[in-house]
Amino acid sequence: MLPTELSPLTELALNLRWCWHLPTQDLFRGIDPELWDSVRHDPVAMLSALAPEDLERLAGDAGFVARVQEAGAELQRYLTEPRWYHQAAEAAGEAGQEGQAEGFPEAIAYFSPEFGITAALPQYSGGLGILAGDHLKSASDLGVPIVGLGLFYKSGYFRQRLNADGWQQESYPVLDPDDLPLSMLREEDGTPAVVSLVMPGGGHLDAYVWRAQVGRVPLLLLDSDVETNEPSKRDLTDRLYGGGGDQRLQQEMLLGIGGVRALRLWSRLSGAAVPSVYHTNEGHAGFQGIERISELVGDGLGFDEALRAVRASTVFTTHTPVPAGIDRFGVNQIQLHFGGQAELPGVPVDRLLALGAESYAGGDPGVFNMAVMGLRLGQRANGVSQLHGEVSRGMFNGLWPGFDDAEVPIGSITNGVHAGTWVDRKVQSLAREFLGDAAFGPDPWPRAGQVPADRIWATKRELRQQLVDNARNRLRKSLRHRGSTAAELGWVDDVLDPDALTIGFARRVPTYKRLTLMLRDPERLAKILLDPDRPVQLVIAGKAHPADDTGKKLIQEMVRFTDDPEFRRRIVFLPNYDIAMAQRLYPGCDVWLNNPLRPFEACGTSGMKAALNGALNLSILDGWWDEWFDGQNGWAIPTADGVEDPERRDDLEASALYDLLENSVVPTFYERDEQGVPTRWLEMITHTLSTLGPKVMADRMVRDYTQDLYLPAARAGWAVSREDFAGARSLAGYVQRLQAEWPKVRVDHVEAEGVGDTPQLGETVTVRAYVALGDLAPDDVQVQVAFGRASEDDELADVETSALEFTESYEGGRHRFDGHLRLSRTGSLGWTVRVLPAHPLLSSVAELGLVANP
Ligand SMILES: *Cc1c(COP(=O)(O)O)cnc(C)c1O
Repeated sequence: MLPTELSPLTELALNLRWCWHLPTQDLFRGIDPELWDSVRHDPVAMLSALAPEDLERLAGDAGFVARVQEAGAELQRYLTEPRWYHQAAEAAGEAGQEGQAEGFPEAIAYFSPEFGITAALPQYSGGLGILAGDHLKSASDLGVPIVGLGLFYKSGYFRQRLNADGWQQESYPVLDPDDLPLSMLREEDGTPAVVSLVMPGGGHLDAYVWRAQVGRVPLLLLDSDVETNEPSKRDLTDRLYGGGGDQRLQQEMLLGIGGVRALRLWSRLSGAAVPSVYHTNEGHAGFQGIERISELVGDGLGFDEALRAVRASTVFTTHTPVPAGIDRFGVNQIQLHFGGQAELPGVPVDRLLALGAESYAGGDPGVFNMAVMGLRLGQRANGVSQLHGEVSRGMFNGLWPGFDDAEVPIGSITNGVHAGTWVDRKVQSLAREFLGDAAFGPDPWPRAGQVPADRIWATKRELRQQLVDNARNRLRKSLRHRGSTAAELGWVDDVLDPDALTIGFARRVPTYKRLTLMLRDPERLAKILLDPDRPVQLVIAGKAHPADDTGKKLIQEMVRFTDDPEFRRRIVFLPNYDIAMAQRLYPGCDVWLNNPLRPFEACGTSGMKAALNGALNLSILDGWWDEWFDGQNGWAIPTADGVEDPERRDDLEASALYDLLENSVVPTFYERDEQGVPTRWLEMITHTLSTLGPKVMADRMVRDYTQDLYLPAARAGWAVSREDFAGARSLAGYVQRLQAEWPKVRVDHVEAEGVGDTPQLGETVTVRAYVALGDLAPDDVQVQVAFGRASEDDELADVETSALEFTESYEGGRHRFDGHLRLSRTGSLGWTVRVLPAHPLLSSVAELGLVANP
């Protein structure tokens, strides 16, 4: 129990805002710096490590008590003051647009299978989790009312060590929620609140709900370790991405279905608003939509009406173009878990199966695809960089047959990173010194040029030194574990050099990331590393999935290379890549290397974090780098796209990487002025900070999500649900009619006047289209003329469309639509007339995947 004078410390430790608020960290460190290091900078552990007499002494220290009180008051201000979201809502309200104010939801649910918030809460494996953590943090900073939903993994993800052979070994530390910044959701009488799911055969799965508080954002985590569960179910949430088959499916049922139930509990017990938008990250949480359909059917809607209502308020984000990253279950598994006694009320298993069916050319009829279900349950969908959006439109175009890829309704919002978490404290104080106290307010980046170059350079050296010290410690520990004695490890004190060009490479180790590409030509690499005047050093880290022996082989190959006495001072592999390592690693690097097989890196975020700490990126033009490389902020490794033979492609791309290092990266880094400062290099850093800085911020990302997806989804959800779901009923009825009549819809005949052989700019063409609509009315559809550049294979590119107007009806469901088309370009033009659905509650003409062409 804390003395009352110190009571704010409890909330300061439990609210994870401390992990991006340096003054709070300093407050805890100040109590006892050594103890702080020994508890790995974890405030909860710090508080429990303090003895009662320590606390009494602190309570008697008036200065300390005052600082605690001030910090507590500051946190309360942060948690309650109006922020960006409230200002935006107010501005929209003042604009007086009807329906606008309702478009600012009071709560938005954000589902993810993992959350990477701090090393002290290890509930993540890699990019997806870290991104989710950064999303919550920025939502908190901006005041966007998100509530996170996930699972609590008692053993988290594994800890990585290496054996003597360099083979990855996994261990699973057991986490005790009582030692973590978590509190259990309880009923009013104090008993734990429980979420319960029906399992095949009539059994049940119970779960507790833990709440972490991430600044203003609550994060609810479901935990299956409940006594009322049979033993195999108690372990269900033991490991992140653990087990396969049914275990994975049941984890996802708990995340999706249990997640919605946890939200309802949370609203009931805390009075929190019921979310009006549901954002699901990757397919894993897709069953949230099924549970919500079931709820609405319980309220009296039909399945189709409920589906329309759920879609309107759901946002789906796809995070990977790698097929192995997409969950697919057997149809039989789904039948077992959602059929018979296990059926969700109102959700016949056949309807569920249809939502996840790969019902397109090349699809597997035996498979239930979670990403496909995600797209069918979300009226709005996006990829995580422009390139990934484009790749996703191509990948999922089978769901919108008849539409060009460009019209597939999957947009993109490029990922970002949370600056407060990822910008090193030394960089932050440098910014504060030259850009003022507000430096860490909204946008210091464009003014990065005001920081003197020599100071940036001196800071980079400190950051490199910090990394070198950290790497030596980690390496020493690892080598001890691998069997070396302390006496053999004297050389480790000379590993890495704080003045050498430092290149970092750390990521998970799926094949497409090509961990070992740099080893393609070992002699050439050795020459680069060992250059006596212009040395280069590589710091490498990464975990392979426990079941991925191919990845483990790559790690072993890398570790063996780093073991070689000739190179070991210039290249190190550090085991157990995690947030704590990442926070040292990115700032200490001069260059961040990324060489995935294009276009499999959906976005990538580590390079953004490195960039914010004054590193330059050296990367394949994939993910975010494809979008934001500008020729001055780093280097693009040319890709050998289209080279079929993967070996040859790797050779070509590795060789391009060495070329860049030898001819540009290394010379630029070592070209110094009289003061020893690399002028050109620093120009590139300043340019990177000032132009890339604002773009890569998670604040920008969360604002984009809010404006482009959350607010439209909230408005759409409101539009379908008001007046007892009149909109959902109308839309469902419309879709049913449309689907029944669509086989009869066709373009019978088109007349055009004024199109010569060589169309001229500004010419007007008159178009008259005769269409058959069956029993549909003319205003059930839109008739469009689409025109664009005609390509050789008769496809249209750069398509523009213009709607024709209904003019006249004839017998037998035939109608005429007319319009004029002003040509806005010349050249080889093609055009066509098509019939599309038209309903005010559809988000795009492509939404239903229905189109009739001549
Ligand atoms: C940022 C980060 C990642 C993701 O980086 P990518 O560039 O997407 O590979 C993975 N792990 C940790 C610990 C990170 O901090």
